[in-house]
Amino acid sequence: MKAVTPMMKQYQEIKNRHPDAILFFRLGDFYEMFGPDALLASRELEITLTGREAGLEERIPMCGVPYHSAQGYISRLVEKGYKVAICEQVEDPAAAKGIVKREIVRVVTPGTLMDTNVLEEKSNNYLVAVAHIADEWGLAALDVFTGDFMAARWYDCDLVALQAELLRLAPKELLVYPAVAANFPELTDGWKKQGILVSSYPAEDLTVEQATTVIKGQFNLSSLEAFGCAHWPAAIVAAAINLRYVQDTQKANLPHITRLRTYRTDHFMRLDPATRRNLELTRTMREGSRKGSLLGVIDKTVTAMGGRLIKRWIEQPLTDVEAICKRQAVVAALVDDGLLRQDVRAGLRAVYDLERLAGKVAYGSANGRDLIALASSLEALPTVLDKLRQGPSVLEKLASRIDALTPVARRITETLVDDPPVSVRDGGLIRSGFHPEVDELRKIAGSGKEWLAHIEQRERERTGIRSLKVGFNKVFGYFIEVSKANMTSVPADYIRRQTLANGERYITPELKTYEEKILGAEEKLTQLEYRLFTELRSSIEALLPQLQKTAEQVAHLDVFAALAQVAVEQGYVCPDIHDGTEIHIQGGRHPVVEAHLGPGVFVPNDTRFCDGETLLLITGPNMAGKSTYMRQVALIVLLAQVGSFVPATAAAIGVVDRIFTRVGASDDLATGQSTFMVEMTEVAHILHHATSRSLVVLDEVGRGTSTFDGMAIAWAVAEAIQRLGAKSLFATHYHELVRLEETLPGVRCYTIAVRESGDDIVFLHQIRPGGVNKSYGIQVARLAGLPSSVILRAREILANLESESKKRPEQKALAMTTNTTSDQSVSVAVVANETSSHFAHEASVFLYDDSDPGQLML
Ligand code: ADP
Repeated sequence: MKAVTPMMKQYQEIKNRHPDAILFFRLGDFYEMFGPDALLASRELEITLTGREAGLEERIPMCGVPYHSAQGYISRLVEKGYKVAICEQVEDPAAAKGIVKREIVRVVTPGTLMDTNVLEEKSNNYLVAVAHIADEWGLAALDVFTGDFMAARWYDCDLVALQAELLRLAPKELLVYPAVAANFPELTDGWKKQGILVSSYPAEDLTVEQATTVIKGQFNLSSLEAFGCAHWPAAIVAAAINLRYVQDTQKANLPHITRLRTYRTDHFMRLDPATRRNLELTRTMREGSRKGSLLGVIDKTVTAMGGRLIKRWIEQPLTDVEAICKRQAVVAALVDDGLLRQDVRAGLRAVYDLERLAGKVAYGSANGRDLIALASSLEALPTVLDKLRQGPSVLEKLASRIDALTPVARRITETLVDDPPVSVRDGGLIRSGFHPEVDELRKIAGSGKEWLAHIEQRERERTGIRSLKVGFNKVFGYFIEVSKANMTSVPADYIRRQTLANGERYITPELKTYEEKILGAEEKLTQLEYRLFTELRSSIEALLPQLQKTAEQVAHLDVFAALAQVAVEQGYVCPDIHDGTEIHIQGGRHPVVEAHLGPGVFVPNDTRFCDGETLLLITGPNMAGKSTYMRQVALIVLLAQVGSFVPATAAAIGVVDRIFTRVGASDDLATGQSTFMVEMTEVAHILHHATSRSLVVLDEVGRGTSTFDGMAIAWAVAEAIQRLGAKSLFATHYHELVRLEETLPGVRCYTIAVRESGDDIVFLHQIRPGGVNKSYGIQVARLAGLPSSVILRAREILANLESESKKRPEQKALAMTTNTTSDQSVSVAVVANETSSHFAHEASVFLYDDSDPGQLML
């Protein structure tokens, strides 16, 4: 066995400290990876695998990437869910005795990635930590780039709410307290399956006391009362885990994390994951794209910060009437004054991503261009603020909360040139006239260059060599180059330094003297420029809290203006928001379908949950517009609670605590559940959690099983929902259910009108009171393009079935009776064949237990 080389020994020591990360080991102009890391990285990045002598029997696998293009490779690995540890040479190799000292300067992880090339501009990138202490759950989410930091807590009994919140936040990386991973694997396993990096954070050194100290230290506080989380131990620990983790990986202070927002999810409308998905709030179900979602229609923001904020608002509608009305008032003011709104939006268009720029300043990674972007963004604000101040008092107030930080902008533009280079270490940054020494050094460097041009000309004349050139390279400095053909004319005072294939390079004492002067000046200049630049950057760093506040308020303004813009463009109205239970929508429209169909095509419809009406039973053939109608009601209520105007001619909305939806049918292949199973699980969830203040949308419950089973379940569910008193929209193709209107209070039947025209039907998309007794299934199938032979055959079969059923003694559904025995309330449904239910053959009796409506007792 041979001895390992000293460099490999150093590599191994560093690698041992970061076993879970791919180690990028700086060697000259490359980052190299070795051993298993090399095998993995070469596969993932599709780069060539080589080997290196390491002093062992066999060469070890190696691959590498050039340091100047490393960022792209790092981001690719991190996006795939790996951590990358960056190991730099921390001393000058020329000055090093023996092996160059190397250290990890940063560990890049999915939750701490800050590459604007790969991060979505209009989404937050959250690192989320979850802790569980006694019966309390704490969650803390941190956007490492923007500094957005928040924490919430729940009790054990509300684990579902925590899970829903996690789905809303869509963490890029999850850190969990060990007890969480051990006792609640279901919380972490799903995320792992989705490729999210989940790490267990060592808890030994993080008691609640220590966590409190970590947070107090970050914010320089003596108590956590100000954040409202002093008595939230699990949330404190989660927040501290975030901070520790970021400090450990970024190896830096985090000056832009200036506050911790604590919140309670019950201050927002609760939306379970299925509902978020079904209502396509931020992504479409099919493509997962923003386009075609509610956000796609509503997001008229013009800044990146506004884009992130409006997404958060859509995902977290409010429940407090006063808070909603406050938002509405600002939107209304911006709706009323079109000119002002245009001016505001035009002004904001010039504002770059202040939050992420602040993040770059905090991490010391902001370059000259970033600071110029910051300055020009701030310079755009005063005009916007002037306009706002001329508006009504709500806008004046908003303006008073935005500090344009004019001195910061001025300082930047006074210090830096208009178009600085990307690099901050190569000079060319500082505006002339800003610093006398910079000007002086520039003059020397500049005049030196002129002088060199002069030498070139002079020497050409002196030697008669017209192709003579004065050049520069790093090894020899300034030189005179003469081609082979002209060598005989070289004067004696030239000193030869380098032989090339077709020429020679020389120096002269005169050239060297000037070289020293020029290079000395240039070096001094770049150093001085760098120092002045970092001084400027640090002075901005000191103002990070103010800068963040400005960014936040600008984001708000942008969102208000966007909501006003969409209201005007799409003809929305300001809904009346109240604490009552009634909902009344006049001329409501589906915001997304309407936008898709174009102006004037969408047929508006009313909705009434008034005078004790709570369950709207909606029948109508496929394609009539039932789903669209029900979703439109849910989206109007949601938009209203966001503080937005709504697509209607008038609306009065009693705030709802939750929206539930059970729509569409899809097999959950990932968990191996059938369509019917998924549907029933969702229905059960709704029956267990809906309150009288909830809004429930149920589309075609029971469709996934046989006709009788399905109808019985639909019937029973409708009854259970009616008992809950939740405002519900219930679409069904079981026409028999319309009888509930007669037997149960609060049930109203509606149908979506179609007109028959010969063998065809025309969809009117209009909702009307009453029920239908026809399915029009064959007509719809015909419209869908089923071959005419199949349609003809279907008609034949239908006619047969109908005539057969007519021959039998008529057995109408015998409605529902309810028997209450001492310990159990049992409902009996007798459903029989009838002409309107084409596939019904036999009469059946269903029993179910009223205390558990999802459970059939057959
Ligand atoms: P259902 O749920 O009854 O099968 P959908 O709600 O899916 O029907 O609607 C079918 C199609 O009808 C939609 O894709 C939409 O294009 C159109 N549609 C629905 N409602 C309306 C409306 N109110 N105005 C105009 N078109 C509508």
